[in-house]
Amino acid sequence: MSFDNLQQVLDQRKQRSLYRHRQVLQSPQSAKIIVDGKALLNFSSNDYLGLANHPRVIESFKLAADEYGVGGGASHLVNGHSHHHHQLELELAEFCNRSRALLFCSGYMANIGVINALLGKNDAVFQDKLNHASLLDGGLLSGAKFQRYLHNDVDSLENKLARSTAERKLVVTDAVFSMDGNIANLPALVDKAEQHNAWLMIDDAHGFGCLGEQGAGCTELYQLTEQQVPVLMGTLGKAFGTAGAFVAGSDALIETLIQFSRTYIYTTSMPPAIAAATRTSLQLIQKEGWRREHLQLLISRFKSGCQELGLVLLPSDTAIQPVMIGAEHTAVAISDKLASLGVQVKAIRTPTVPLNQARLRVTFSAAHSLVDVQQLLAALSTAVKEIKFEYPS
Ligand SMILES: *Cc1c(COP(=O)(O)O)cnc(C)c1O
Repeated sequence: MSFDNLQQVLDQRKQRSLYRHRQVLQSPQSAKIIVDGKALLNFSSNDYLGLANHPRVIESFKLAADEYGVGGGASHLVNGHSHHHHQLELELAEFCNRSRALLFCSGYMANIGVINALLGKNDAVFQDKLNHASLLDGGLLSGAKFQRYLHNDVDSLENKLARSTAERKLVVTDAVFSMDGNIANLPALVDKAEQHNAWLMIDDAHGFGCLGEQGAGCTELYQLTEQQVPVLMGTLGKAFGTAGAFVAGSDALIETLIQFSRTYIYTTSMPPAIAAATRTSLQLIQKEGWRREHLQLLISRFKSGCQELGLVLLPSDTAIQPVMIGAEHTAVAISDKLASLGVQVKAIRTPTVPLNQARLRVTFSAAHSLVDVQQLLAALSTAVKEIKFEYPS
Protein backbone atom coordinates (compact mmCIF):
# COMPACT_ATOMS: atom_id res chain seq x y z
CA MET A 1 0.00 0.00 0.00
CA SER A 2 1.43 3.34 -0.94
CA PHE A 3 0.19 6.89 -0.79
CA ASP A 4 1.21 7.70 -4.35
CA ASN A 5 -2.33 7.47 -5.69
CA LEU A 6 -3.95 10.09 -3.44
CA GLN A 7 -4.27 12.55 -6.32
CA GLN A 8 -5.57 9.86 -8.67
CA VAL A 9 -8.36 8.95 -6.24
CA LEU A 10 -9.27 12.62 -5.89
CA ASP A 11 -9.36 13.06 -9.67
CA GLN A 12 -11.66 10.07 -10.07
CA ARG A 13 -14.01 11.53 -7.49
CA LYS A 14 -14.11 14.77 -9.49
CA GLN A 15 -14.90 12.96 -12.73
CA ARG A 16 -17.87 11.25 -11.08
CA SER A 17 -19.33 14.61 -9.85
CA LEU A 18 -18.73 13.43 -6.29
CA TYR A 19 -16.11 15.93 -5.25
CA ARG A 20 -16.96 17.99 -2.18
CA HIS A 21 -16.09 21.70 -1.98
CA ARG A 22 -16.36 23.92 1.03
CA GLN A 23 -17.68 27.41 0.67
CA VAL A 24 -16.95 30.25 3.05
CA LEU A 25 -19.94 31.56 4.97
CA GLN A 26 -19.60 35.26 5.76
CA SER A 27 -22.81 35.80 7.72
CA PRO A 28 -24.77 34.10 10.51
CA GLN A 29 -27.03 31.20 9.54
CA SER A 30 -30.41 32.66 8.67
CA ALA A 31 -32.86 32.87 5.78
CA LYS A 32 -30.43 35.05 3.86
CA ILE A 33 -26.72 34.31 3.97
CA ILE A 34 -23.55 35.58 2.35
CA VAL A 35 -21.42 32.88 0.79
CA ASP A 36 -18.11 33.66 -0.88
CA GLY A 37 -19.22 37.26 -1.18
CA LYS A 38 -22.60 36.47 -2.73
CA ALA A 39 -26.02 36.98 -1.09
CA LEU A 40 -28.17 33.83 -1.24
CA LEU A 41 -31.55 32.73 -0.01
CA ASN A 42 -30.62 29.78 2.20
CA PHE A 43 -32.44 26.44 2.00
CA SER A 44 -29.58 24.23 3.16
CA SER A 45 -29.06 24.74 6.88
CA ASN A 46 -30.51 22.69 9.73
CA ASP A 47 -31.34 25.80 11.75
CA TYR A 48 -35.00 24.79 11.54
CA LEU A 49 -36.38 27.34 13.98
CA GLY A 50 -34.09 30.24 13.13
CA LEU A 51 -32.54 30.23 16.62
CA ALA A 52 -28.86 30.14 15.59
CA ASN A 53 -28.93 33.91 15.26
CA HIS A 54 -31.67 34.80 17.75
CA PRO A 55 -30.90 37.95 19.82
CA ARG A 56 -31.85 36.34 23.14
CA VAL A 57 -29.75 33.24 22.45
CA ILE A 58 -26.80 35.45 21.53
CA GLU A 59 -27.32 37.57 24.65
CA SER A 60 -27.26 34.49 26.92
CA PHE A 61 -24.09 33.32 25.22
CA LYS A 62 -22.41 36.69 25.83
CA LEU A 63 -23.49 36.95 29.46
CA ALA A 64 -22.26 33.45 30.22
CA ALA A 65 -18.95 34.13 28.49
CA ASP A 66 -18.49 37.18 30.73
CA GLU A 67 -19.21 35.10 33.81
CA TYR A 68 -17.63 31.73 32.93
CA GLY A 69 -15.06 32.57 30.26
CA VAL A 70 -14.76 30.70 26.99
CA GLY A 71 -13.28 27.22 27.31
CA GLY A 72 -14.70 24.35 29.37
CA GLY A 73 -11.11 23.83 30.49
CA ALA A 74 -11.39 20.16 31.51
CA SER A 75 -13.56 17.11 31.00
CA HIS A 76 -16.85 16.75 32.89
CA LEU A 77 -15.37 14.16 35.25
CA VAL A 78 -12.40 16.31 36.20
CA ASN A 79 -13.66 19.85 36.79
CA GLY A 80 -15.22 21.02 33.51
CA HIS A 81 -18.84 20.33 34.49
CA SER A 82 -20.12 23.87 35.02
CA HIS A 83 -23.33 25.27 36.47
CA HIS A 84 -24.85 25.84 33.01
CA HIS A 85 -24.06 22.28 31.87
CA HIS A 86 -25.70 20.90 34.98
CA GLN A 87 -28.81 23.05 34.74
CA LEU A 88 -29.21 22.30 31.05
CA GLU A 89 -29.12 18.55 31.75
CA LEU A 90 -31.85 18.92 34.38
CA GLU A 91 -33.98 21.06 32.04
CA LEU A 92 -33.55 18.72 29.06
CA ALA A 93 -34.53 15.71 31.16
CA GLU A 94 -37.70 17.43 32.31
CA PHE A 95 -38.52 18.64 28.79
CA CYS A 96 -38.17 15.10 27.39
CA ASN A 97 -40.05 13.55 30.28
CA ARG A 98 -37.03 11.42 31.16
CA SER A 99 -35.33 10.65 34.48
CA ARG A 100 -32.00 12.15 33.48
CA ALA A 101 -30.05 13.60 30.58
CA LEU A 102 -26.34 13.81 29.79
CA LEU A 103 -24.61 16.34 27.52
CA PHE A 104 -22.15 15.43 24.78
CA CYS A 105 -20.07 17.80 22.64
CA SER A 106 -21.69 16.65 19.40
CA GLY A 107 -24.29 14.26 18.09
CA TYR A 108 -21.59 12.24 16.39
CA MET A 109 -19.81 11.76 19.71
CA ALA A 110 -23.03 10.94 21.55
CA ASN A 111 -23.90 8.15 19.14
CA ILE A 112 -20.42 6.64 19.19
CA GLY A 113 -20.28 6.93 22.97
CA VAL A 114 -23.67 5.47 23.81
CA ILE A 115 -23.55 2.42 21.60
CA ASN A 116 -20.03 1.59 22.73
CA ALA A 117 -20.86 1.98 26.41
CA LEU A 118 -23.82 -0.38 26.06
CA LEU A 119 -22.61 -3.08 23.67
CA GLY A 120 -19.67 -5.46 23.30
CA LYS A 121 -18.86 -8.60 21.35
CA ASN A 122 -21.58 -10.79 22.88
CA ASP A 123 -24.24 -8.31 21.86
CA ALA A 124 -26.04 -7.29 18.66
CA VAL A 125 -27.09 -4.00 17.14
CA PHE A 126 -29.92 -3.70 14.58
CA GLN A 127 -29.89 -0.59 12.44
CA ASP A 128 -32.14 0.88 9.78
CA LYS A 129 -30.37 0.90 6.41
CA LEU A 130 -30.73 4.69 6.18
CA ASN A 131 -29.40 5.50 9.65
CA HIS A 132 -27.01 8.42 10.06
CA ALA A 133 -23.31 7.67 9.62
CA SER A 134 -22.61 8.33 13.30
CA LEU A 135 -24.99 5.54 14.35
CA LEU A 136 -23.50 3.12 11.84
CA ASP A 137 -19.96 3.99 12.95
CA GLY A 138 -20.95 3.57 16.60
CA GLY A 139 -22.33 0.12 15.87
CA LEU A 140 -19.28 -0.97 13.89
CA LEU A 141 -16.85 0.27 16.52
CA SER A 142 -18.64 -1.52 19.36
CA GLY A 143 -17.68 -4.99 18.15
CA ALA A 144 -21.29 -6.15 18.56
CA LYS A 145 -22.83 -8.21 15.76
CA PHE A 146 -23.87 -5.51 13.30
CA GLN A 147 -27.06 -5.97 11.31
CA ARG A 148 -28.94 -3.58 9.05
CA TYR A 149 -32.64 -4.03 8.34
CA LEU A 150 -34.52 -2.68 5.33
CA HIS A 151 -35.54 0.95 5.63
CA ASN A 152 -38.41 1.42 8.08
CA ASP A 153 -39.36 -2.26 7.55
CA VAL A 154 -40.50 -3.89 10.79
CA ASP A 155 -40.76 -7.36 9.18
CA SER A 156 -37.16 -7.18 8.08
CA LEU A 157 -36.21 -6.24 11.65
CA GLU A 158 -38.37 -9.08 13.02
CA ASN A 159 -36.46 -11.59 10.89
CA LYS A 160 -33.16 -10.51 12.29
CA LEU A 161 -34.29 -10.17 15.89
CA ALA A 162 -35.93 -13.61 15.88
CA ARG A 163 -32.69 -15.29 14.84
CA SER A 164 -30.45 -13.43 17.27
CA THR A 165 -28.96 -15.19 20.29
CA ALA A 166 -27.10 -12.10 21.48
CA GLU A 167 -27.12 -11.17 25.16
CA ARG A 168 -28.07 -7.53 24.67
CA LYS A 169 -30.01 -6.47 21.60
CA LEU A 170 -30.16 -2.78 20.67
CA VAL A 171 -32.45 -1.57 17.88
CA VAL A 172 -31.28 1.82 16.60
CA THR A 173 -33.06 4.24 14.29
CA ASP A 174 -33.08 7.85 13.13
CA ALA A 175 -36.43 9.24 14.29
CA VAL A 176 -36.57 11.59 11.29
CA PHE A 177 -34.35 10.33 8.46
CA SER A 178 -31.84 13.04 7.73
CA MET A 179 -31.66 12.80 3.94
CA ASP A 180 -35.27 11.71 3.29
CA GLY A 181 -37.28 13.62 5.88
CA ASN A 182 -39.72 10.81 6.71
CA ILE A 183 -40.43 9.73 10.29
CA ALA A 184 -39.64 6.20 11.47
CA ASN A 185 -42.53 3.93 12.35
CA LEU A 186 -41.75 4.31 16.03
CA PRO A 187 -44.83 2.69 17.61
CA ALA A 188 -44.21 -0.51 15.59
CA LEU A 189 -40.51 -0.46 16.45
CA VAL A 190 -41.38 -0.09 20.15
CA ASP A 191 -43.60 -3.18 19.96
CA LYS A 192 -41.01 -5.18 18.08
CA ALA A 193 -38.24 -4.33 20.52
CA GLU A 194 -40.46 -5.23 23.48
CA GLN A 195 -41.40 -8.59 21.94
CA HIS A 196 -37.74 -9.53 21.62
CA ASN A 197 -36.51 -8.11 24.89
CA ALA A 198 -34.43 -5.60 22.97
CA TRP A 199 -33.79 -1.93 23.77
CA LEU A 200 -34.79 0.80 21.33
CA MET A 201 -32.51 3.79 20.76
CA ILE A 202 -33.73 6.73 18.72
CA ASP A 203 -31.71 9.60 17.28
CA ASP A 204 -34.06 12.58 17.11
CA ALA A 205 -31.57 15.06 15.61
CA HIS A 206 -34.19 16.42 13.20
CA GLY A 207 -37.36 16.04 15.27
CA PHE A 208 -36.15 17.56 18.53
CA GLY A 209 -37.40 21.14 18.75
CA CYS A 210 -39.60 20.81 15.66
CA LEU A 211 -42.10 18.04 16.39
CA GLY A 212 -44.59 17.51 19.21
CA GLU A 213 -46.87 20.02 20.92
CA GLN A 214 -44.05 21.50 23.03
CA GLY A 215 -41.28 20.71 20.54
CA ALA A 216 -39.87 17.78 22.52
CA GLY A 217 -39.66 15.78 19.32
CA CYS A 218 -40.77 12.34 18.21
CA THR A 219 -41.15 10.86 21.70
CA GLU A 220 -43.63 13.63 22.46
CA LEU A 221 -45.34 13.26 19.08
CA TYR A 222 -45.99 9.55 19.71
CA GLN A 223 -46.13 9.82 23.51
CA LEU A 224 -43.35 7.28 23.99
CA THR A 225 -42.15 6.69 27.53
CA GLU A 226 -38.69 6.01 28.90
CA GLN A 227 -39.62 2.32 29.18
CA GLN A 228 -40.61 2.20 25.52
CA VAL A 229 -37.60 4.16 24.26
CA PRO A 230 -34.87 3.52 26.82
CA VAL A 231 -32.24 5.51 24.88
CA LEU A 232 -33.24 8.91 23.50
CA MET A 233 -30.62 11.01 21.76
CA GLY A 234 -31.15 14.55 20.50
CA THR A 235 -28.86 17.21 19.06
CA LEU A 236 -28.58 20.89 19.88
CA GLY A 237 -26.92 22.13 16.68
CA LYS A 238 -30.05 21.91 14.54
CA ALA A 239 -33.42 23.24 15.73
CA PHE A 240 -31.83 24.48 18.96
CA GLY A 241 -29.42 26.63 16.97
CA THR A 242 -26.42 26.06 19.28
CA ALA A 243 -24.11 23.02 19.44
CA GLY A 244 -23.77 19.65 21.13
CA ALA A 245 -26.12 16.81 21.93
CA PHE A 246 -27.60 14.86 24.81
CA VAL A 247 -28.76 11.39 25.73
CA ALA A 248 -31.78 10.97 27.99
CA GLY A 249 -33.06 7.94 29.86
CA SER A 250 -33.03 6.13 33.19
CA ASP A 251 -30.69 6.88 36.04
CA ALA A 252 -28.93 3.55 35.40
CA LEU A 253 -28.39 4.43 31.73
CA ILE A 254 -26.95 7.87 32.50
CA GLU A 255 -24.67 6.54 35.26
CA THR A 256 -23.47 3.84 32.86
CA LEU A 257 -22.57 6.51 30.32
CA ILE A 258 -20.77 8.64 32.91
CA GLN A 259 -18.70 5.61 33.94
CA PHE A 260 -18.10 3.95 30.56
CA SER A 261 -18.79 6.23 27.59
CA ARG A 262 -15.39 7.11 26.19
CA THR A 263 -16.56 10.05 24.07
CA TYR A 264 -18.08 11.51 27.23
CA ILE A 265 -15.13 10.87 29.51
CA TYR A 266 -12.09 11.63 27.37
CA THR A 267 -12.95 15.05 26.01
CA THR A 268 -13.21 18.65 27.19
CA SER A 269 -16.72 19.78 28.11
CA MET A 270 -18.50 22.04 25.62
CA PRO A 271 -17.98 25.76 26.35
CA PRO A 272 -20.29 26.68 29.25
CA ALA A 273 -21.65 29.64 27.27
CA ILE A 274 -22.96 27.19 24.67
CA ALA A 275 -24.89 25.42 27.41
CA ALA A 276 -26.22 28.76 28.66
CA ALA A 277 -27.33 29.77 25.15
CA THR A 278 -29.00 26.38 24.74
CA ARG A 279 -31.01 26.95 27.93
CA THR A 280 -32.44 30.06 26.31
CA SER A 281 -33.21 28.18 23.09
CA LEU A 282 -35.08 25.63 25.16
CA GLN A 283 -37.19 28.36 26.76
CA LEU A 284 -38.02 29.88 23.37
CA ILE A 285 -38.93 26.44 22.00
CA GLN A 286 -41.25 25.73 24.92
CA LYS A 287 -42.88 29.15 25.12
CA GLU A 288 -43.11 30.19 21.48
CA GLY A 289 -44.88 27.48 19.51
CA TRP A 290 -45.50 29.87 16.60
CA ARG A 291 -42.16 28.90 15.04
CA ARG A 292 -43.28 25.30 14.62
CA GLU A 293 -46.63 26.43 13.21
CA HIS A 294 -44.98 28.79 10.73
CA LEU A 295 -42.56 26.04 9.69
CA GLN A 296 -45.49 23.76 8.89
CA LEU A 297 -47.09 26.49 6.78
CA LEU A 298 -43.87 26.92 4.75
CA ILE A 299 -43.61 23.17 4.25
CA SER A 300 -47.18 22.76 3.02
CA ARG A 301 -46.87 25.77 0.70
CA PHE A 302 -43.70 24.30 -0.79
CA LYS A 303 -45.24 20.86 -1.25
CA SER A 304 -48.24 22.18 -3.14
CA GLY A 305 -45.97 24.42 -5.25
CA CYS A 306 -43.82 21.42 -6.23
CA GLN A 307 -46.90 19.46 -7.19
CA GLU A 308 -47.91 22.28 -9.56
CA LEU A 309 -44.42 22.26 -11.08
CA GLY A 310 -44.39 18.46 -11.46
CA LEU A 311 -41.36 18.06 -9.18
CA VAL A 312 -40.98 14.74 -7.39
CA LEU A 313 -40.59 15.03 -3.63
CA LEU A 314 -39.95 12.21 -1.20
CA PRO A 315 -42.90 11.59 1.13
CA SER A 316 -42.05 13.91 4.02
CA ASP A 317 -44.00 16.26 6.27
CA THR A 318 -40.93 17.55 8.08
CA ALA A 319 -38.65 20.52 7.40
CA ILE A 320 -36.50 18.23 5.23
CA GLN A 321 -38.02 18.21 1.72
CA PRO A 322 -35.81 16.39 -0.77
CA VAL A 323 -36.43 17.07 -4.47
CA MET A 324 -35.37 13.83 -6.19
CA ILE A 325 -33.06 14.25 -9.18
CA GLY A 326 -31.20 10.98 -9.77
CA ALA A 327 -27.85 11.46 -11.51
CA GLU A 328 -25.13 13.08 -9.44
CA HIS A 329 -23.97 15.46 -12.20
CA THR A 330 -27.53 16.66 -12.84
CA ALA A 331 -28.15 17.37 -9.17
CA VAL A 332 -24.94 19.39 -9.03
CA ALA A 333 -25.85 21.28 -12.23
CA ILE A 334 -29.28 22.21 -10.89
CA SER A 335 -27.82 23.24 -7.55
CA ASP A 336 -25.29 25.46 -9.37
CA LYS A 337 -28.04 26.98 -11.49
CA LEU A 338 -30.10 27.74 -8.37
CA ALA A 339 -27.08 29.48 -6.85
CA SER A 340 -26.76 31.63 -9.97
CA LEU A 341 -30.40 32.59 -9.39
CA GLY A 342 -29.62 33.59 -5.81
CA VAL A 343 -30.94 30.47 -4.07
CA GLN A 344 -28.87 27.95 -2.16
CA VAL A 345 -29.99 24.32 -2.14
CA LYS A 346 -27.18 21.80 -1.84
CA ALA A 347 -27.05 18.60 -3.87
CA ILE A 348 -26.75 15.46 -1.74
CA ARG A 349 -24.87 12.64 -3.45
CA THR A 350 -23.50 9.17 -2.85
CA PRO A 351 -22.19 7.91 -0.43
CA THR A 352 -24.45 10.07 1.75
CA VAL A 353 -27.39 8.67 -0.26
CA PRO A 354 -27.41 5.65 -2.66
CA LEU A 355 -25.86 6.04 -6.13
CA ASN A 356 -28.19 7.63 -8.70
CA GLN A 357 -30.51 8.87 -5.97
CA ALA A 358 -28.95 12.29 -5.80
CA ARG A 359 -31.31 14.94 -4.58
CA LEU A 360 -31.69 18.59 -3.74
CA ARG A 361 -32.15 18.57 0.01
CA VAL A 362 -34.39 21.56 0.67
CA THR A 363 -34.65 22.50 4.33
CA PHE A 364 -36.92 25.13 5.81
CA SER A 365 -36.47 27.40 8.77
CA ALA A 366 -39.00 29.40 10.75
CA ALA A 367 -36.88 32.39 9.68
CA HIS A 368 -38.19 31.98 6.11
CA SER A 369 -41.19 33.93 4.83
CA LEU A 370 -43.82 32.75 2.38
CA VAL A 371 -42.24 35.12 -0.17
CA ASP A 372 -38.97 33.19 0.26
CA VAL A 373 -40.81 29.98 -0.59
CA GLN A 374 -42.24 31.59 -3.73
CA GLN A 375 -38.77 32.69 -4.75
CA LEU A 376 -37.44 29.15 -4.23
CA LEU A 377 -40.25 27.68 -6.35
CA ALA A 378 -39.65 30.21 -9.13
CA ALA A 379 -35.92 29.41 -9.17
CA LEU A 380 -36.57 25.66 -9.16
CA SER A 381 -38.97 26.06 -12.07
CA THR A 382 -36.37 27.97 -14.09
CA ALA A 383 -33.55 25.57 -13.21
CA VAL A 384 -35.35 22.35 -14.11
CA LYS A 385 -36.55 23.83 -17.39
CA GLU A 386 -32.99 24.67 -18.32
CA ILE A 387 -31.33 21.48 -17.11
CA LYS A 388 -33.29 18.60 -18.58
CA PHE A 389 -33.25 15.32 -16.70
CA GLU A 390 -35.01 11.98 -16.34
CA TYR A 391 -36.53 11.10 -12.99
CA PRO A 392 -35.12 7.93 -11.47
CA SER A 393 -37.62 5.08 -11.75
C1 LIG B 1 -26.60 15.88 12.38
C2 LIG B 1 -26.86 14.51 12.88
C3 LIG B 1 -26.05 13.91 13.83
C4 LIG B 1 -24.77 14.55 14.29
O1 LIG B 1 -24.99 15.58 15.15
P1 LIG B 1 -23.86 16.68 15.33
O2 LIG B 1 -24.20 17.35 16.60
O3 LIG B 1 -23.91 17.57 14.15
O4 LIG B 1 -22.55 15.93 15.42
C5 LIG B 1 -26.42 12.68 14.33
N1 LIG B 1 -27.51 12.05 13.87
C6 LIG B 1 -28.30 12.57 12.93
C7 LIG B 1 -29.50 11.82 12.46
C8 LIG B 1 -27.99 13.81 12.39
O5 LIG B 1 -28.74 14.32 11.43
